[in-house]
This record gives sequence, C-alpha cells and structure tokens, in this order.
Amino acid sequence: MRTYDISLSISSDMLVWPGDPQITLERIQDMDAGEPCNVTSLRMSVHSGTHVDAPSHFLGGEQPTVEQLELNILTGRVYVLHFPDDVDLITRPVLEEAKIPPRTRRLIFRTRNSKLLQSQEKQFRKDFVALSADGAQYLVDRSVKLVGIDYLSIASYNELTPVHEILLKFGVVVVEGLNLFEVSQGRYTLYCLPLKIAGSDGAPARAILVGV
Ligand SMILES: [Zn+2]
Repeated sequence: MRTYDISLSISSDMLVWPGDPQITLERIQDMDAGEPCNVTSLRMSVHSGTHVDAPSHFLGGEQPTVEQLELNILTGRVYVLHFPDDVDLITRPVLEEAKIPPRTRRLIFRTRNSKLLQSQEKQFRKDFVALSADGAQYLVDRSVKLVGIDYLSIASYNELTPVHEILLKFGVVVVEGLNLFEVSQGRYTLYCLPLKIAGSDGAPARAILVGV
C-alpha cells in the first residue's frame, strides 16, 4: 500500500497567485546568533500552495469559513482522473466522456498542469487547465462533494467567480495546488487536512493519498 504526499512544499520562492504576497519565512530566533533555539515566522496568503477554499472565499463572510468544513468530506475514498495534455478546459462533455466511476464523491483532476508544477516553473501561467462553469454544474448534479486540481485555482482566469460560486454554493470542497506528478489514475483514500484557522476563507493543507 503506497502513500503519496500530494502537497507542495512551502518555500519563499514558490509559485503564488498573481497579486498574492511572496511567502516570507523569517528566522526570528537563531541558534547561530547565540539564541537558545531556532524559531521561524511565516507570512503567506491562505491560498498559497496546496490549500482548501471555504465557501466564504467567494460567497462572503456569512458563509462557512474553513474551520467549519466537514472532516468527513476532506477524508475518504477519492478518484484521481487523468486528462490527456490536449484537454485545455474541463467541460461537461469532457467529464461525461471521462467515465467517472458511479457514486464518486471525491474527485481529483490530474492535467498537464502537473508538468508545470513539477518543472518548478515560478512564473504564473494564465493558460493553466481548469474546470468550466458547466463542468462545475455537472459535478454538483452528480453529488460530488470534493474536487481537487493540480494548479492554484480550480477555475480559469475568465471564469473565476462563476465556477467557485457554483461549487461553494453547493458545499463542494475545493482543493487547489495539488502535486500529482507521481500519481496514477485510480482509486485512493484521501486525507486532506487544512489548518484550523478561525474565520478564514481558506487554509493551507497537508494532503496525502493512500493506495487502496
Ligand atoms: Zn483558493
């Protein structure tokens, strides 16, 4: 039974969403400077690296925040679906053709984005593969409860708001920034644990897959 770490490493030079601050890791106590221990301070957007979106991210502060997400959605059986490199947008017809197993409640997309993340490309790419609005509605119609993708957003630049709104309004947990380069298509058990940040619109997460 193999375990895959599908989280990105958090580092000061990692890829971030345009406009988000670069990650700052600062040594605030340093043993090399004679202090009794090493302590690091971390500053980052909660939507950096591998992270989870809460409904309040696009629906406003009245909606659930990240510490309220249900752990029984964030953990459990998941299907990892591979798309060939010529898929630019994950639309309803693309999903219909993909033969998602019946009763799939958690779905993770591996696309050509994985190669971008693996190449350590630090420049943000606007042409990443994303889920379309009709694709998001298709997942809601199929009662999918969690969807993940291998770039910093589930939605493309052009459809950022509608796609997030459809998913978050129906309580679909969105996991972004997954590192899937070594993961084959198929069934796994997912453990995705976002930090319990009170009142936050999202949180960095450690995510792993365990083979079944
Ligand atoms: Zn996000």
